[in-house]
Amino acid sequence: MIGNNHRIIKSGQHPAGFYTAIWRTISSGNIWHGEMCNRTKNGNLYWVDTSIVPFLDAAGLPYQYISIRTDITQLKESEQRLIRSQAFANIGTWDWNIRSGELIWSERIAPLFGYAEGKLAHNYENFLNAVHPDDLQRVSDAIQDCVKRGIGYNIEHRCLWPDGSMHWLLQRGDVVRDAAGEPLHKLGLVQDITQRKQAELALEESSARLKEAQNLAKLGSWEADIVSGELHWSDEVYRIFGQDKTRYTPTFAAFQSAVHPDDLARVSESEQRAAATGAHDVVHRIIRPDGTVRYVHELARGEISSAGRLLRLRGTVQDVTELKQAEQAMLLAKEAAEAASRAKSEFLASMSHELRTPLNAILGFSQLFSMDQQLPQATRDNSRQIEHAGQHLLSLVNDMIDLARIESNKLELSLETVKIKGVVKDSLNMVQAMAYDSGIKLIVMQCDVIDITVWADFNRLRQALINLLTNAIKYNKPQGTVRLVCEVIDGRARIAVTDSGRGIPVDKQQRIFNAFDRLGEERGKVEGTGIGLLITKRIVESMGGSIGFASTEGQGSTFWLELPLATNIEHFDTKAAASSSAGSSSHPAQILADRPVVLHIEDNPMNLRLMQQIFAGKKEWELRSASTAESGLEMARAYPPQLILMDINLPGMDGYQALRLLKAAPETSGIPVIALTANAMKGDRERGMAAGFADYLTKPLDILDLLEVLGKLLQR
Ligand code: ADP
Repeated sequence: MIGNNHRIIKSGQHPAGFYTAIWRTISSGNIWHGEMCNRTKNGNLYWVDTSIVPFLDAAGLPYQYISIRTDITQLKESEQRLIRSQAFANIGTWDWNIRSGELIWSERIAPLFGYAEGKLAHNYENFLNAVHPDDLQRVSDAIQDCVKRGIGYNIEHRCLWPDGSMHWLLQRGDVVRDAAGEPLHKLGLVQDITQRKQAELALEESSARLKEAQNLAKLGSWEADIVSGELHWSDEVYRIFGQDKTRYTPTFAAFQSAVHPDDLARVSESEQRAAATGAHDVVHRIIRPDGTVRYVHELARGEISSAGRLLRLRGTVQDVTELKQAEQAMLLAKEAAEAASRAKSEFLASMSHELRTPLNAILGFSQLFSMDQQLPQATRDNSRQIEHAGQHLLSLVNDMIDLARIESNKLELSLETVKIKGVVKDSLNMVQAMAYDSGIKLIVMQCDVIDITVWADFNRLRQALINLLTNAIKYNKPQGTVRLVCEVIDGRARIAVTDSGRGIPVDKQQRIFNAFDRLGEERGKVEGTGIGLLITKRIVESMGGSIGFASTEGQGSTFWLELPLATNIEHFDTKAAASSSAGSSSHPAQILADRPVVLHIEDNPMNLRLMQQIFAGKKEWELRSASTAESGLEMARAYPPQLILMDINLPGMDGYQALRLLKAAPETSGIPVIALTANAMKGDRERGMAAGFADYLTKPLDILDLLEVLGKLLQR
């Protein structure tokens, strides 16, 4: 520096005012003391601790000064490092000289309290002011305790910044003592922990929410270490198991002892499955310490080691007792309902059977009366009325049987390839007279031209179509029309029946397939039961088809059936071939009487009388009667008739047993036996034919049918 102005060592790190202030001090004769940053010849910065002492002349002006400097560069650097690291960690430190009351804090303290660096005077009051009012007591108590009792503190508190924002600070402090144990300094550290605290609070909140959700759902979570047997439960699991968290330690063994003994096997089975598949899912009972039994649903996922061993299970357990109880109640109710429904169906079936027997007499005699030319016209007309009412009653009974059978899932179908053409022809034959009487025009489109084959039960399909056709006629307007269209849509056969009737109001349409709901028609003149459409729907659905309708009030309705086409189904009707050959294998026995004798075995006197009346008009045949199977058999052996009419439901021996005995004896084995029965259930006829009856006629007897069968067999 020799020969140079001292200014050359200025570093430029201090503001201009810094040097002015120094100059002012020393030029007024005072010593300046402070730290200063200078620059060496090679340009490096260095720090010095400096005292500058002025020497004054007589006029009191400095003529020279002496400066003593100590290099503090290293100290300064470590201080800077400390400041940087404090800034980086968002930490501030302070030092309170207890004796002098002097408080020094590091640069970061002010920013931690929300002030710019150096903009907050270092004092205890300012420090306390920065603490959130709600936490103030806690903080000052901790500091007092630290001073008085020498207890270090570690406290988290909120801090309200001047801009109104809230921050979290961690305060730690302790006392430094002299050799005699007297407190000299209190040192402290302040750290901003806002981010950590927010994460902690969010975690606390979400775990509180989780707890609440577990509590509401009665669903706890657990984790089992299979290797150590340790078990961890969430609070809710303790509640579910009725255990006190403070006194009970869940272990695998403790859990097993809570499982209902009858369910242990099921639980361990599921655990074994978990070992294989990683999934544990089981509902079982537990017994709480107070003896109450609860149902729980356990669901867990397993952690399997690379060696394939189950290491850990993590899962949930839910108290499903109420659900289970409701399920059991429902099951019982369902069973009861099913039993009631079965009872109802059985009742309906037996009632229907009972009704058919007297109907046989009513229909038979009324038919006889109306055919008897010797009776006055009025009597014959009246008996036609009886016959009409009887027919109606019979159709009701038939519908009831159908419904009972359908509802008890006893509807048997014999599915085969069926030509729509044939079904349509048969159905039209059945309703033609009705349409004619009601003045309704039947229009058939396409059905008789195109050949559509479906997979269905012929009789049942005919029944369904007749139902739709009769409804279309019944609920039509005078001089109305019924249009029948057959077509193939989307690979299914569709038969649609459109009428020009009064239609169905929109608000009643959803009731159309309800049992016994006639949509108010019960007050009208049209006869019906309100179950025809339901039966139709069930029949069609059980054949794999569907039913639908569209209706506009005042304009008419279209009801349609859709059925699967039979194009891809090969079917050989072996059954029909077999039964016809069985029928022709019986040979009529030789008869001794001058005209064919028919033996009628029947216990019901009214039915016996009816048959006698039928035969009264048939002088070419002779009728003999027996009222029990036993007497009938005796008569047949003594005087073999040419044909036997056999009631099935006989007291004592029934018709089937009697037939077996007839077939077993050489003198009667060749006599054709016709079964007469009120059993009109599906399959009855087949069973009868298979047993060896030559024909199977159901009561109420259709007299013309009977005469036709008799004619055929007796002629042979
Ligand atoms: P039923 O004809 O014996 O009363 P259904 O089950 O066949 O019973 O029909 C139920 C009800 O639906 C009928 O009572 C009638 O009110 C209504 N319905 C059925 N078919 C038609 C139709 N083509 N047009 C108008 N109403 C109909």
